[in-house]
Amino acid sequence: MQVYKTMARLNWPRSYVGKLVLICCAAIVAPMALVAAAQHAGLFGPSASIWAAGLAGLLGTMLALVLMNHMLAPMRATWDALEQYIQRGDLPNLPTVYGDEAGRLMAQVQHTIRALDIASKELRRLASLDPLTALHNRRWLVQRGQDEVVRARRENSPLAAILMDLDHFKGINDHYGHGAGDAALVAVAEIMRGQVRPYDLLARLGGEEFCLVMPDTDIVVASAVAERLRRSIADHPIPQLGGASVTASLGVVVLGPDDGGFLGFIGRADAMLYGAKRTGRNRVMVAA
Ligand code: GH3
Ligand code: MG
Ligand code: MG
Repeated sequence: MQVYKTMARLNWPRSYVGKLVLICCAAIVAPMALVAAAQHAGLFGPSASIWAAGLAGLLGTMLALVLMNHMLAPMRATWDALEQYIQRGDLPNLPTVYGDEAGRLMAQVQHTIRALDIASKELRRLASLDPLTALHNRRWLVQRGQDEVVRARRENSPLAAILMDLDHFKGINDHYGHGAGDAALVAVAEIMRGQVRPYDLLARLGGEEFCLVMPDTDIVVASAVAERLRRSIADHPIPQLGGASVTASLGVVVLGPDDGGFLGFIGRADAMLYGAKRTGRNRVMVAA
């Protein structure tokens, strides 16, 4: 891009098109002028000067084409930057200091791709979050959970899941109002967040249902975690409920060979959760 950078420093002509025209004219006219001067000085006769003029025209045209090719470097750089971002997600590194049309094109593509990249990362982040509790959501859990199932099977390590549903939550909404119900959901989310390890997967699946997936965790440890969660929630007074607390029912499973994928695995945790509900709520039911 050296020829473009040199030309970009010229104050006149300012525009990119003007610089292209200047290069064409200079490259073609300069050799012709040299021939005319040489002929004027009597360096060659009339018949040789026809050949010299033709040669000068040819050389000038070739020089103009070579310089034009160099001047198109910003277009190629811009095209490369777009292609690499689209194909590999690589962020561009185009110059942003040149003021002519080609320079402004590079600068705008540079700024636009960087802004687009920030916005799309933020959108992806928001699309994986539950807006009420700021926990991850079902979509995120299903994607990440499937990865954990594959990893657990490949490494032959235990993978545990806890599915939890708050008890009689409809009644809580009816009695204290939906806003208080929301506050209870946020409080429960905070309790859970405080008790998980950084590499556990925690999500609000929707409504008053939460899921915790724990890599490298066997059924004994998972049951203890579930029981600790149950007790912490039941013991936590919620000001918006007038100091009352909520209770939760939990189902606990570890990944088995017949679970199929993540949804089959969680389906078994759901069956355990249903068992906990059926046998009285505010309890943990662990898969045999
Ligand atoms: P069970 O013990 O059998 O789980 O009874 P439940 O009342 O908790 O279950 P049900 O499925 O009948 O009701 C769930 C309630 O959760 C109904 C719905 O209004 C409430 N709910 C779902 N999402 C939200 C939410 O985002 N905020 C609030 N405040 N309530 C919600
Ligand atoms: Mg419920
Ligand atoms: Mg429910």
